[in-house]
Amino acid sequence: MIISHVFAREDVGVFGLARSGISAIRSLVAGGARIYAWDDGEASRDAAAEEGARIMPFAAWPWQQLKALILSPGIPLNHPQPHPAVMAARNADVPVIGDLELFARVIQQAGLDAPQVPVIAVTGTNGKSTTTALIGHILQCCGYAPEIGGNIGKPALDLNPPARATYALEVSSYQIELSPSLAPDVGVLTNISPDHLDRHGSMENYVAIKSLLLERTNKDGIICIGVDDPYCAAIHSRFAATEKPDAIPVSVGKVLGRGVFVIDGILYDAQTVNAAKVMDLRNAARLPGAHNWQNAALAYAAVRGLFASRQGIAEAIASFPGLPHRIEDIGRVGKVRFINDSKATNADAAERALKCFKDIYWIAGGRSKEGGVESLKALFGNIRKAYLIGEAADQFAQTLGETPYENCEYLDRAFATAAHDAQRSSAVAPVVLLSPACASFDQFKSYEQRGDTFRELFLELARSGMREAS
Ligand code: ADP
Repeated sequence: MIISHVFAREDVGVFGLARSGISAIRSLVAGGARIYAWDDGEASRDAAAEEGARIMPFAAWPWQQLKALILSPGIPLNHPQPHPAVMAARNADVPVIGDLELFARVIQQAGLDAPQVPVIAVTGTNGKSTTTALIGHILQCCGYAPEIGGNIGKPALDLNPPARATYALEVSSYQIELSPSLAPDVGVLTNISPDHLDRHGSMENYVAIKSLLLERTNKDGIICIGVDDPYCAAIHSRFAATEKPDAIPVSVGKVLGRGVFVIDGILYDAQTVNAAKVMDLRNAARLPGAHNWQNAALAYAAVRGLFASRQGIAEAIASFPGLPHRIEDIGRVGKVRFINDSKATNADAAERALKCFKDIYWIAGGRSKEGGVESLKALFGNIRKAYLIGEAADQFAQTLGETPYENCEYLDRAFATAAHDAQRSSAVAPVVLLSPACASFDQFKSYEQRGDTFRELFLELARSGMREAS
């Protein structure tokens, strides 16, 4: 745990008691702060009380005494409108910050400089978790002791303290807004596309928040930017015009005069004079698809400066085990491969998976997002048959048109039918793919629970040696 002493003997409010809130309370209490805490959920309040917080609705907090409000990133700071707890803080002139801000202040206080204890922070619309985990994996393979967390895995304050660590942090836009002191040594921006605009007010605002992380990056550090979308290309041009920090452009599909790029799966490093071939990313089995090549190229650019040779980085990328629920290859039974892409909660994400395979037995559906799967029509040729579940089944069936489909309602039925059909098909290497293009909340608690259920069904099938499917 990282102990935050900044509010020793002071009163602090913590609102929103999910994992990061509880982690902040633990760190602040260890650092001598007195905590007032609230969350609408009773179970979370009990957990906070166990950590030593005083549980009280925020309206009853002694706002005049509070030195800060630690807000969960899940709670609206400005859009669609500030939460009443935020309003209460503003009325009393109490700064509103997040757990990452506490982390950042500890790092600052430790007075550690960039080359010794790098903090690598990754943001962007897509690919944050994969890029962060891959950076951590490379560091691990190459002899560093990385601490990986933030918006992925452990909250930042649950990580080991600075004396021993190198940090790879995933940072969401909400966390950027709440952590003005977070000044990474390496700032990574993967890509930007419209997302969660209800919580950001406008695209302009969303882009501005994402670029804040880069603006706050140490002047002696570097920033790595995926330049394949117009928003990030513009951000890169702006940073390239200033001298520091050094801005490295990263592209998949474009040859860059200077930067890091991928052409037909080959990763090139053109940071110095001539472009040098680093590796063939098609050999990185757990990073399938061009979107993952972008993640790999960004991770490479982010850590390149830490190592003398490229070879070790390339070997680490090739051995990346991948993250669960993201085009996760969970195994094969007979000739059928099973892929868990439960994290694909919208059509955009499902598109990446549908591009990676042929002869797909596609399990899709759940709670649909705007536009359904209209945008995927061009990829329907890769689908042998669709197995529809959840609320979106009828809507998706209409879009599928000529593509064969079956309304299975539930995941277990969809799984059994898809596995059976795939095994019986004439395809040489059929794939049963769970890539729902929908949120999971109509039938599951989370996309993780949906993916875990898919995995359990697979394990059951593997144990029974495909009896049901043949
Ligand atoms: P995040 O943490 O930003 O949500 P993840 O690494 O968890 O990103 O990936 C989530 C999903 O987003 C993946 O299943 C994939 O469909 C898509 N994705 C991953 N990386 C990229 C990328 N670089 N560009 C576009 N989409 C991506």
